[in-house]
Amino acid sequence: MSLTVASTPANLSEFISGNSSDTKSCDDSKDAVDTSSAYAICPVCPHRCRLSDGQTGLCKARLGRNGHIIPVSFGTLTAIALDPIEKKPLTRFMPGYRILSVGGFGCNMYCSFCQNHDISQVGIDGTYRTEQMSPEELCELATELSKSEHNAGVAYTYNEPLISYEYVLGTAKLVKKAGLVNAVVTNGNINQEILTELLPYIDAMNIDLKVFSKEGYRMLGGDFETVKAFIQTAARSSHIELTTLVVPGLSDSEEDMKNEAEWIAGIDPDIPLHITRYFPKYKMTDRPPTDISLMHRLQDIASSYLKYVYLGNV
Ligand code: SF4
Repeated sequence: MSLTVASTPANLSEFISGNSSDTKSCDDSKDAVDTSSAYAICPVCPHRCRLSDGQTGLCKARLGRNGHIIPVSFGTLTAIALDPIEKKPLTRFMPGYRILSVGGFGCNMYCSFCQNHDISQVGIDGTYRTEQMSPEELCELATELSKSEHNAGVAYTYNEPLISYEYVLGTAKLVKKAGLVNAVVTNGNINQEILTELLPYIDAMNIDLKVFSKEGYRMLGGDFETVKAFIQTAARSSHIELTTLVVPGLSDSEEDMKNEAEWIAGIDPDIPLHITRYFPKYKMTDRPPTDISLMHRLQDIASSYLKYVYLGNV
């Protein structure tokens, strides 16, 4: 069974179209902030956007309103599907189960090779189909599917789910209470205070470790130290698996893979690592797919330190 928004007419909203003229990025440009009005600083990720009334954060999913930050993506789903849990990828967590997977819009990083850019690099004015679903409705659907479709719970995925952490938290509490599990697929570029609030309700995570360098993360709009701290904290109370997409010229260094695997093993050598193959996508079309022999070499290097190293997209 595979559910998609397009095939579930109930509550299906119209295509969203809108005027983005009042939407500003929270990048470092000085005119991003109107200091004449009240503002709030978003605590969710290391960008710490300072948002005046009507300004949207860099992630396009959070809005300043009268000195508060509003998660405008709350309950707006752009994708919903019942996926095999291995597809997250989560290979060593409830294998054989499926999981109700949902995504919204926006992201707090801007990878030029993003595989889901049509929902992650756009805001509320994006040309995608949406469905509004409250935490209660999503939990109810997950519970129904657990009875008939071997559904384990809910996975928050596709775009960066934690920029709408209020929705994840609200839903995860209900899902946990219903006896199901919560899984998060995230870039990990999220501050510790948000993570620690969520962790009691999260059973499994797949966390990107996109590149093993400070400079690499800066190019992608993330913070290396924040991501590493996220992984270390998450590993203490949740099942975690990590994913590294091998992008030629960015994250294909054998030396970096050695350092990465060694660092992961320092946390726990049983943490599974998924090394996945890059294919040209979105704005990055100037290089070929990752060389297959390199993929195998990187797997061999990582396997010297880690027990479970999987290749993806090969
Ligand atoms: S979550 Fe969005 S609004 Fe908040 S700091 Fe990060 S990019 Fe800015």
